Amino acid sequence: MKDASSRFRELRERLTHFHSLNTAAGLLEWDMEVNMPRAASEARALQFSAVTKAAHEVIVAEETGHLVEELAPAAAAAPADDAMAAAWRWTEREYRRRRNQPVSFVEELAAHTARAQEVWVEARSRKDYSLFRPELEKMVELKRRQAGFVGDFADPYDAWLEEFEPGMTTSSIEKLFAGLKPGLVDLVSRVSERAGSVRLPELKGSFPVDRQRVFGEEVARAMGFDFERGRLDVSAHPFSATIARDDVRLTTRYREDLPLSSLFGIMHEAGHGLYEQNVSDELTHTPLCHGSTMAVHESQSRLWENLVGRGRGFWKRFAPRFHEMFPAAAGLDAEALYRAANKVERSHIRVEADELTYSLHVMLRFDLERALVSGKVKAGDLPDAWAAKSKEYLGIVPPDAAAGVLQDVHWSAGLLGYFPTYAVGNMISVQLFEAAPKTEDYSVLLGWLRENVHRHGRKFHAEELVRRATGKPISPEPYLRYLKTKFGELYGL
Ligand code: ZN
Repeated sequence: MKDASSRFRELRERLTHFHSLNTAAGLLEWDMEVNMPRAASEARALQFSAVTKAAHEVIVAEETGHLVEELAPAAAAAPADDAMAAAWRWTEREYRRRRNQPVSFVEELAAHTARAQEVWVEARSRKDYSLFRPELEKMVELKRRQAGFVGDFADPYDAWLEEFEPGMTTSSIEKLFAGLKPGLVDLVSRVSERAGSVRLPELKGSFPVDRQRVFGEEVARAMGFDFERGRLDVSAHPFSATIARDDVRLTTRYREDLPLSSLFGIMHEAGHGLYEQNVSDELTHTPLCHGSTMAVHESQSRLWENLVGRGRGFWKRFAPRFHEMFPAAAGLDAEALYRAANKVERSHIRVEADELTYSLHVMLRFDLERALVSGKVKAGDLPDAWAAKSKEYLGIVPPDAAAGVLQDVHWSAGLLGYFPTYAVGNMISVQLFEAAPKTEDYSVLLGWLRENVHRHGRKFHAEELVRRATGKPISPEPYLRYLKTKFGELYGL
């Protein structure tokens, strides 16, 4: 029998093999979104599935199971921040989740997902939910079955959550949302009443795209994003992809009349990218060399996008350069630019929502997902349930299904359980920002984030990471207090 440390080395080699295949698949995907000629899509689908299948096989192999079993005592005895113990925890979860799903089921789910996405695109463009309804019904049924395979969960929703937010449960999220919802609904309604009389300035005119790109890159560089180890490109939907710790790709999109949309898009993705670029050496070339959970990742993008980019200090610092680049903004001083960046509007589309209303869009989806999985709401009643929730939370009812129940890709993609991570990420972003040194020097801020968040990679789940960084549990209160202060002042409440 070999000793634990040599078996841990074997586990690490196995994880490096998986990680190399997995990030190669990421590169194929990035290329598909950014460069690939359309005609290549059939070949690319084959390439992508071959590489992801090879990666999957590394995890579900018998030998991975032996390693997980043999190393369990050593991992349990190791300190929580031990890299090998963290690697074991990651492997145990992936092995359990992947291994327990029968191959025939995985294929059925993959085939249904491909079909559901196609139907969803069609249904959305025709604003016709009835087309998508049977696909959603089937998706919920398949995801319920998946939950039964992957572990012993009291609630199927917990199994879905574990995929994106391991360490959190449905009830822990319900508790967080219960502490946020009443105060936020009230604040949004009071701000919306004032929004009729308090007119915030608007950016109007033409903002050349090539200058938006230059300005965005300057801001990303000021944040500390390392362009020697990353790049920025254009895609239909902004995203970030980590090919390696030293190869982080960001994308954005530009519209000549909306310079803030590309700017905040870049800051958001660069926030994700900074996280990935700053994981410590001991974790590189393993699956732990990524940001922790989805919520923690989102806390990093939101921190830079909202707490920095939509802050007064940012506009004081960047207004002169903004004016130099964009004569159309000449009439707006730093304070006016700050106010223009923080306009609140109750709107239907989540991805276009402002900072204040965003989390309500998320809570609405969380409620409906929970109702779908428990059977309280049938797929056929979803548009009505959506309208009722939207009225309750945002005070508005979508005019059609495309502006309501059909707007997001998640449900057709099988990403049930993903939405709540966005709102938890918002909460964490404020907690971390408040714990970090108060400074307009981004290198100091980045240094604090690197030390307290980034370097740990996937060693800790959200709750543990936040406790270590701030000394406190995840909580909605700082976030709510921050929103009340900021938007109360902007709208004269
Ligand atoms: Zn994000």
